[in-house]
Amino acid sequence: MREGVSKSASNPGLARALYHVGIDDTDDLRGGCTTYSAYNVIKELFANGLDVVDLPRLLRLDPNVPWKTRGNAAVGFSVLGDGEQILETVKTTLAESTRGRYSSPGLVIANRCQRAKIRGVFSRAESRLLDPFESFEILSRSGAVVWGKKRRGLIGAAAAACNLLLAGDYSYELIAYRRPELIGTPRRVSGLSVASMDVEFHSSTFNNLSGFMQCVAPHGSDPVLFGLRGEDPRSLIRAMPLIRSETPSGWMIFVTNQGTDNHYQSLPLKSSHLGDSLSLYGSVTDFPRMVKGGHVMIELDSDGTKITAVAFRETGVMRDAVAGLSIGDKVMVMGGVKMQLPPSLNIEKLKVLRTVPRVILRNPLCGLCGRRTKSAGRGQGVRCEACGMAYKNSQGMMVFVPQGLPPGLYLPPSSSIGHLTKPLARYGREKRGREFRLRRFSLFN
Ligand SMILES: [Zn+2]
Repeated sequence: MREGVSKSASNPGLARALYHVGIDDTDDLRGGCTTYSAYNVIKELFANGLDVVDLPRLLRLDPNVPWKTRGNAAVGFSVLGDGEQILETVKTTLAESTRGRYSSPGLVIANRCQRAKIRGVFSRAESRLLDPFESFEILSRSGAVVWGKKRRGLIGAAAAACNLLLAGDYSYELIAYRRPELIGTPRRVSGLSVASMDVEFHSSTFNNLSGFMQCVAPHGSDPVLFGLRGEDPRSLIRAMPLIRSETPSGWMIFVTNQGTDNHYQSLPLKSSHLGDSLSLYGSVTDFPRMVKGGHVMIELDSDGTKITAVAFRETGVMRDAVAGLSIGDKVMVMGGVKMQLPPSLNIEKLKVLRTVPRVILRNPLCGLCGRRTKSAGRGQGVRCEACGMAYKNSQGMMVFVPQGLPPGLYLPPSSSIGHLTKPLARYGREKRGREFRLRRFSLFN
């Protein structure tokens, strides 16, 4: 698509109304920039007398899309005002904030009616790879304002414009930004202060630490100083001053699909595609095998379709659990579909539902001293190593042992868990939808 405003942008139909805006910074390896662009745009909209309502939305898109940008995030927000003025302000600020960067932001602005036309297709961007031609066609036909060079960015932008995060589970993130003159220098964020914040706010925040390491501050040269993820905006605002760090230039709260598992769809394997994030019931059909690099592979049968599932070495305890599976065990695996023949699934989360009894060969006890005997060789009976007694006509017996792998949920360590994956801490904290508020947004500085 050529750069510039598409035909519909000059549509005089833009007037004071509610508009849903979506932006996506594509091709920026530094990550974290999309929320910063949104932060700048929202502040500018307010400065120009336009009202951003509800909360800005940080939408993480399908992490299993093969050509994702880092973090794969898009930001949406809703503005009440004059359409032309919104478009001008957003475009100017975006151009300003991405100047000198190798990124080409995508921008989509949709009114209520245009949003209704695209939401069916783009609400799927959370969990699957959209057909770029089909989705672009629908976007163009909707009459929404479409601005940007790259289709990929436009898909993210359209998804963020139309997904208001009203249905199902959601969480929040407070993102604090660095002062511009410090961007690119090492961050000063005290890990100890993050740990003590985590103690105080353990029931309302998540993913603060991975082991003893803080994970609220990124490492790259992006403008994010730190991000606090949690269950409600108030606790995040109270938790923020506990982080000892360089002085942020500002901060903003986003409602987000992070940590919700919302991307996993329960689709039958037969109708899934490359890039889908799936949650799949299956039965183990072969013993797990460890391959080079320490990854573990298992064969599953899901509704009559066979699939190879892989747990990578980095997934630690979850990989070990996969290695402990046995033929006939029933599991639920969550992860992304990879393009291979036969299809394979990259396990991000494992739920062991039911295990078959494990059977082992056990030799009889010695009649003389009571110790366990050992096999004396094929057809040779058994022998007691302790007292030397031989039992020519005895042999081992198959016995059932208590299951080796307790049913339950197995997750990778938090350092290798994806943005969208629900961490253990959030189990039991799930929310059931929220209401869109026409109230002026004020949770930023
Ligand atoms: Zn003995």
